[in-house]
Amino acid sequence: MDATNDMWLNDLTRKREKGPTLHKESYSEFSDATKAVHAGQYNDPNTGALGTPIYQCSTFYLNEASYKAIEEGRGRDEMIYSRYGNPSQWSVQEKLSSLEKAESSIVFSSGMAAISSTLLAMLDKGSHVVSSRDIYGGTYNFLYEDLYRYGMSVTFTSPTNIKDIEAAIQENTKILYFEALTNPLLKITPIKDLVALGRKYNLRVIIDNTFLTPYNVKPIDLGVDLVVNSATKYLNGHSDLIGGTVSGSRKLIDCIWPQMLKNGGSMDPHACFLLERSLKTFALRMRTHNANALKLANYFEAHEKIKRVYYPGIQSHPQHDLAKSQMNGKYSGMVSFEIEGGDKNAHKLLSYLKLPKEATSLGGVESLISLPYNTSQASLTKEQQKNIGINEGLIRLSVGIEDIEDLISDFEQAITNVFKKELVC
Ligand SMILES: *Cc1c(COP(=O)(O)O)cnc(C)c1O
Repeated sequence: MDATNDMWLNDLTRKREKGPTLHKESYSEFSDATKAVHAGQYNDPNTGALGTPIYQCSTFYLNEASYKAIEEGRGRDEMIYSRYGNPSQWSVQEKLSSLEKAESSIVFSSGMAAISSTLLAMLDKGSHVVSSRDIYGGTYNFLYEDLYRYGMSVTFTSPTNIKDIEAAIQENTKILYFEALTNPLLKITPIKDLVALGRKYNLRVIIDNTFLTPYNVKPIDLGVDLVVNSATKYLNGHSDLIGGTVSGSRKLIDCIWPQMLKNGGSMDPHACFLLERSLKTFALRMRTHNANALKLANYFEAHEKIKRVYYPGIQSHPQHDLAKSQMNGKYSGMVSFEIEGGDKNAHKLLSYLKLPKEATSLGGVESLISLPYNTSQASLTKEQQKNIGINEGLIRLSVGIEDIEDLISDFEQAITNVFKKELVC
């Protein structure tokens, strides 16, 4: 970290408290699998109960400390009202901060709540964002349809070409907003180069790390200011809740907190419990997602009926070298591929598969499969889809943690069925 950035991060106008937290243990010296189990967990000293209780309450007794915190604008550090904060939120926030190597985090009721509150908190009237066409549809809509209503603007550029990104920077640019790994073509944003650009022009760099998660890459370690995640996906990993996160320096997260209060997208205590519980197996799940996806990508790459495979962990990915250095050999659980015979055969393949479920979303323990042309990229015309590389027959697979041999045999039988010659008699 260079001196200017260090100064900027520590430029606190008022003293920050350690909170919000219920305890002082830190697990920073441990690795992800250990942090995932232990960090943030609050073992109730009154009862000795192991594990964070679900604080299913909307409000808390006021006391001298909470009155003082309200008066001093430190409402985030005390228990006052559950939209402001709740021990179930604090607990899972600490686990997330530990995994992200961030000073502080906030959990939200959805990924979009995290993204919209983060952007609104960081932008002023008249300011400009540089982002990419290859971003999540909800984020694209927010940037494209809503920013101008607040007197802000956006330019969409390539997520991979730093020269294009630099060329899009204007006098009033405040934020570079990109995804670490894009949907569905799994392009990789060169995070270190993006951070260097941010430093050069004094911009904040925000990364949506939903597709990779802090298990595969830690953007904060690479110098990014803020990381957002849809916790709905890998962080929770069980396809049973909607949630979002933002992590970064205590200073920036303190700036986002009042925006969260105004937009109202705080996470419900029961959802916090589910997310914290799910995160205990985070490292275990991610290891299996990554390993299964690499094996499936290699299987598809060798299959004569599969025209093209998109996966950062294989040689044919145009940014394979960047993937190796940036993702440390952890290439994600997402694989996209094109089948011979276009969308017609893609639909057939989905109908023959027994294990992967045909559904949108990703990152769950169960494999999920969908066609980008009629799901995530459905709002684009065929022409626009072609221009951004969504070819006929493209399939997106979120590889689950099922037995890899079972997954491969399922694809083998399904592909065989798609190309089975009709019997003519
Ligand atoms: C799903 C997703 C989001 C939005 O998250 P929600 O929890 O559905 O609001 C944002 N970014 C990416 C990359 C996603 O995949």
